[in-house]
Amino acid sequence: MTQDFATRIIAPGSTIGIMGNGQLGRMAALCAAELGYKVHVFGPGTDSPTEQVCAKATIADYTDLDALRAFAADVDVVTFEFENVPHDSVKLLSELVPVRPGWKCLHLSQNRLREKTFCNENGIGTAPFAAVRSLADLEAAVAKLGRPAVLKTTEMGYDGKGQVKITDETSLADAWAEMNGAEAILEGFISFEREISVIVARGVKGDTACFCPVENVHTNHILDVTIAPAKILADLAQKAEDIATRLVEAMEFVGLLAVEMFVTTDGDVLVNEVAPRPHNSGHWTIDACVTSQFEQFIRAVCGLPLGNPAHHSNARMKNLLGHDIDDWQAILAEPDAKLHLYGKAEAKAGRKMGHVTWVLPKED
Ligand code: AMP
Repeated sequence: MTQDFATRIIAPGSTIGIMGNGQLGRMAALCAAELGYKVHVFGPGTDSPTEQVCAKATIADYTDLDALRAFAADVDVVTFEFENVPHDSVKLLSELVPVRPGWKCLHLSQNRLREKTFCNENGIGTAPFAAVRSLADLEAAVAKLGRPAVLKTTEMGYDGKGQVKITDETSLADAWAEMNGAEAILEGFISFEREISVIVARGVKGDTACFCPVENVHTNHILDVTIAPAKILADLAQKAEDIATRLVEAMEFVGLLAVEMFVTTDGDVLVNEVAPRPHNSGHWTIDACVTSQFEQFIRAVCGLPLGNPAHHSNARMKNLLGHDIDDWQAILAEPDAKLHLYGKAEAKAGRKMGHVTWVLPKED
């Protein structure tokens, strides 16, 4: 790795390489363009929301070494909007071009066991957990953590996929069978009052900036609504921001990290999971903050000064899934609603097609 890769400033006019070609890449590419950058997106498949708005696209598998090398030669920095890019591919890229966040951060966040272990090693609380690699492990873990509990695959799980709740009625053999032989983690069930998230940026010089904590409401395990800011006491909000900041510092992270947390019924804040990229719970920042999460992401990745994350308005963001977007005319007719559509061709059930943010008066 070239010596200055860690600190190199990527000036406007340069090309940012984004791995992953969904709506997060699209909104990031739009902000990159506002700051005078070009974007080259890399990802498999077509019907890509990012490709529609950027200068160049490579459609290839994440393990296609020739395509990865050609991509690295064309861009000045690489980042991600999708964290499940194989870390070996990212390691290869990082020998050729600055990669932010680095492959080690990606590797950490790709696996729930590594993620929770890292949190605990750094004094940050999570649900109690145990590794499960066999039915015998699951039986021992349930004996230790009790029921209810949640069994999750350690990798590639999102929006509730690869998850089973273990109640008094659950057969452990059936639950283990649902993991299809994949490594899993058993988590003690957290009695939570609400789910919140904090999005934090860290620049190449170690400077950090947090967006305020927001409350997230899930339906069928998919984010439905974000309420910004979260209606929680100031000391809890501070605690959540401190946790997010401690995490990016401990990871020596450069970029944007989303930290999903539980506020427990006894007033504690525990980390559920992290995502090393812009996050659905930060979409409201486009319309209600001085700097949006996407602009902050571009600033952090390019080594620019971080922007002011303060909100000038409160907001309520709702995801538009599948045919929810058929209501686009009614949404546009609402005076305080800001509609964002991702340009996806096919409105499949549960697919994130867009979102709407209601910009609300700020409460002091
Ligand atoms: P995850 O894929 O880890 O984000 O989990 C999806 C959703 O399941 C979370 O947003 C929570 O609502 C719920 N959940 C996950 N883990 C736990 C846990 N350990 N205790 C209680 N609820 C959980």
